[in-house]
Amino acid sequence: MNLNINAQKAQTFDAIVVGSGITGGWAAKELTEKGLNVLVLERGYEIKHVEDYKTAMQDPWEFEHRGKITAVSAEEHYASMFFSAKEGSQFNFTNDKEHPYIQKRPFNWIRGYHTGGKSLIWGKHTYRWNREDFMANAKEGLGVDWPIRYEDLVPWYTYVEKFVGISGQAEGLDVLPDSTFLPPMAMTAPERHFKKSVAQKLNRPIVMGRVAHLTKPQPWHTAVGRASCQFRNRCTRGCPFGAYFSSLAATLPAARSTNRLTIIHNAIVKEIILDDHAQKAKGVRVIDQNTMEVREFYAKVLFLNAGTIGSTSILMNSKSARFPNGLGNDSDQLGRNLMDHHLAVGARADIEGFEDDHYFGARPGSLYIPRFRNWGNDKRDYLRGFGYQGGASRADWARGGTEPGFGADFKKKMTQPGPWKMSLTGFGEVLPDPNNRFYLSPDKTDKWGQPQVVFDADFSANDRAMRKDIMNDGAEMLEAAGFKNVTTYDNPAAHMGLGIHEMGTARMGKDPKTSVLNKYNQVHTCKNVFVTDGSGMTSASNVNPSLTYMALTARAASYAVAQLKAKNL
Ligand SMILES: Cc1cc2nc3c(=O)[nH]c(=O)nc-3n(C[C@H](O)[C@H](O)[C@H](O)COP(=O)(O)OP(=O)(O)OC[C@H]3O[C@@H](n4cnc5c(N)ncnc54)[C@H](O)[C@@H]3O)c2cc1C
Ligand code: SF4
Repeated sequence: MNLNINAQKAQTFDAIVVGSGITGGWAAKELTEKGLNVLVLERGYEIKHVEDYKTAMQDPWEFEHRGKITAVSAEEHYASMFFSAKEGSQFNFTNDKEHPYIQKRPFNWIRGYHTGGKSLIWGKHTYRWNREDFMANAKEGLGVDWPIRYEDLVPWYTYVEKFVGISGQAEGLDVLPDSTFLPPMAMTAPERHFKKSVAQKLNRPIVMGRVAHLTKPQPWHTAVGRASCQFRNRCTRGCPFGAYFSSLAATLPAARSTNRLTIIHNAIVKEIILDDHAQKAKGVRVIDQNTMEVREFYAKVLFLNAGTIGSTSILMNSKSARFPNGLGNDSDQLGRNLMDHHLAVGARADIEGFEDDHYFGARPGSLYIPRFRNWGNDKRDYLRGFGYQGGASRADWARGGTEPGFGADFKKKMTQPGPWKMSLTGFGEVLPDPNNRFYLSPDKTDKWGQPQVVFDADFSANDRAMRKDIMNDGAEMLEAAGFKNVTTYDNPAAHMGLGIHEMGTARMGKDPKTSVLNKYNQVHTCKNVFVTDGSGMTSASNVNPSLTYMALTARAASYAVAQLKAKNL
C-alpha cells in the first residue's frame, strides 16, 4: 500500500474552525493565542482588509446607479433587499440565487459568504443580556433551562468587550447590564429632549446606543491596526480605518500575528468525519467552491462557527451509524426552536422646532430604549419584552453621505437641512418553539450537490400581541415628547429572518436527552466538537445577540484548550 503520509500531515491541525465571521474570528484568536495550530475553513471568497473595500471612499454620485440596486441585483440578493443591500455594498451580501434555500413558510436568510462573514455588514449594536434572560425559560416552563447563568458569562463579557471596543455609557440598569465602555456617541438636541420627556412623563430610561465603534482607540486596538471612527456611516462597504469591530479588522489579525493561523477560502465544509470507534470527530470533508474538489482536513478539536443555520446544517449532514439523524442529534432537537427578533415594526414622528440645532458627520449608531414590558411590576398578557433602536435626524442632511443626486441642485440641498424626524424600531423577543424549525431538503440540492435548507417557522400569537405593544408604546413615547404627525407601522411583509438574528436549532441544555450542546457549547455526545455561534441559544432575549456569541466562544475555547491539555478530548 502506498500511503501519502506527508499529505495527511499537511492536512492535520490542532484545531479546525469552520467559518471566519464574528464567532469564527474569536475562536481563531483564542485558540491560536493559547498555542494551537488552527485551520480556518471559509466557504466564501477572500476579502483583504482595506485593499478590498473598493467602494468605501466612493461618494453617491460616483456610483453608476447613484447607490440604487438594479433589478438584476435585486433578484440575486432577494433576502437582503428588504433593508440592507445597496449598490456600494451588495457584494458583501450573499447571492441567494447562487445559494438558494426553500421557504415553506417565509424566512429571509441574510448571509455574507466571504472572509469576515456578517461581521462586515452587521449593525454593531452590542449589548449584554441580563440575568432574567438566562432564567426566563425555567420560570415560564418554556423550551429548556439554560445550563448557565449571567454570572457564568460576566468575566467573558468583560474580556471580549475590552478587545472589541464598545462606545456607550454606564447606566446601572438591571435590564441592560453595563459593559466596559469607550466614550459614548452624542445625542442630537431633539433626542436629549425626547429622553428627558419620556423619563419625566413615563419614567422610562433612554440610553445612547452601545455600538462596537472605536470612539477612543486603546493600545490593544491600534496594535492590530485599528483607528478612530470618522462618523461616515458607510460601514457596510467595509471600513478602511478598522473603526468598527469585524473579524477582518480585529480578531483575524490578532490570530495571524501568532503565526499559528492558516485560512483556506472557497472551502465549503460539507460534513464532519466521525471516528466511530472513539466516538469523536476526526476532521471535516470539504468541497472546493470553484473546482468541486473534495478534500479532508483533520484535527483534535473542531469549532463550528458557520452561523446558526450553517453550523446546524453541517451537523445534520454528518450522518453515521452512530448518528443516523445527524451528529449529536439523539435528542431530535437539531433544527428546532429556530428563533429571531421582531423587526419592521415601530413608530415615527415629525419634530417641530430645533431648526437651529445641527450635528456634524453621519453617526453610525442610534438611541436605545431598554425593555420595560413584563419587567418589574409591569405585567402583560404575553411573555417577554422588547426594546427600540432609533433616533432623530434631519431629513436630507447626510452631507452627501447617503442621499442621491448631482449638480447644482444637489449642492444646494447639502446646504439646506430638512426638518427633524424621529423613528423608533422595535426589537422583540421571539419564544423558543420546537415547531419553528428548518431541515435539509430530501431532494433539492445546490450546485455543489448539498441539500438545500427548508425553513418552516412563523411568529406565534404571543409574538403578534407583542408587535401591537411595540407600535403603541413607540407612539406613546413620541407623543410624550410633543412630536407631531405620529404614525405607527407594522410591515405586513414582516416575517421570521428579517430580524437578522437567527438563533437556536442546536440548543444548549443540561440534559443530552433534550438538548444538543452542554454548558460549554460542546456536543453532549461528541466531545471534541464545539458549536459557539447562535445555534446554541436556548432563548433569544430581546437585545442583539452577537456579544453573547463572542463571550460564549471565548469561554468555550478556553475550556477546550484546558480539556485538550488534560487529554480529555
Ligand atoms: C444587516 C445585519 C445587521 C446586523 N446587526 C447586528 C447588530 O447590530 N448587533 C448584533 O449583535 N448582531 C447583528 N447582526 C447579526 C450578526 O451579524 C450575527 O449575529 C453574527 O455575524 C453571527 O456570527 P457568526 O460567526 O455566527 O456568523 P457569521 O458572522 O455570518 O459568519 C459565518 C461564516 O461562516 C461561513 N460559512 C457558512 N457555512 C460554511 C460552511 N459550510 N463551510 C465553511 N464556512 C461556512 C460564512 O461564509 C461566514 O463567513 C446583524 C446581521 C445583519 C445581516
Ligand atoms: S462610520 Fe466609522 S466605522 Fe463606519 S465606515 Fe466610517 S469610520 Fe468606519
